[in-house]
Amino acid sequence: MRILIVEDEPNLARQLRRTLEASGYAVDVAPDGEEGQFLGETEAYDAVVLDLGLPEVDGLTVLRRWREAGRKMPVLVLTARDSWSDKVTGLDAGADDYLAKPFRAEELVARLRALIRRASGHASAELKAGDVVLDTRSGRVTKGGVPVKLTAQEYKLLSYLMHHKGKVVSRTELIEHIYDQDFDRDSNTIEVFVTRIRKKLGPEIITTIRGLGYSLEG
Ligand code: CA
Repeated sequence: MRILIVEDEPNLARQLRRTLEASGYAVDVAPDGEEGQFLGETEAYDAVVLDLGLPEVDGLTVLRRWREAGRKMPVLVLTARDSWSDKVTGLDAGADDYLAKPFRAEELVARLRALIRRASGHASAELKAGDVVLDTRSGRVTKGGVPVKLTAQEYKLLSYLMHHKGKVVSRTELIEHIYDQDFDRDSNTIEVFVTRIRKKLGPEIITTIRGLGYSLEG
């Protein structure tokens, strides 16, 4: 799962990036509204954290332009004050949730998790496929109740497939959603991760659909 943070306060942006990366997300940061709008229009994100007070283009305008352009990713708006009019305007402009500054990073992570889950049609924080359970809160994976250790990239890949269970996911889509912008993307590594996940969780967990991609049944 990949998240865009549009935030002009460098310390807050850095702290959010660290927290979200530690929670198993690929993260891009845009320091102003112009770059944020561009990234949101051209890259694939599973959720966006959007500050309203931004240089170049303000957050509400960015959000309206995304929605006008048909971009549907969940957006959580950060409001500078605990102002009801900011919240209402943000929600009306197409925001899915909001948080007033200052906030706890844990709360932001929990809200993003819920947004991502709902966007892919899951009500529970635990995603299941057969006897494999992925807990999106703790980032833990178990098979038949036994904890299985995955690397960060293996977790990201499995998490994306679990969120899109029953659908065929192409290699390109996986690359777009498990790597951040600066990562040296090599599509061959996807096959390597899939092989390792099959070794750890059983060969039946991920099905290769020849010429199309991968699918996780459950
Ligand atoms: Ca700001």
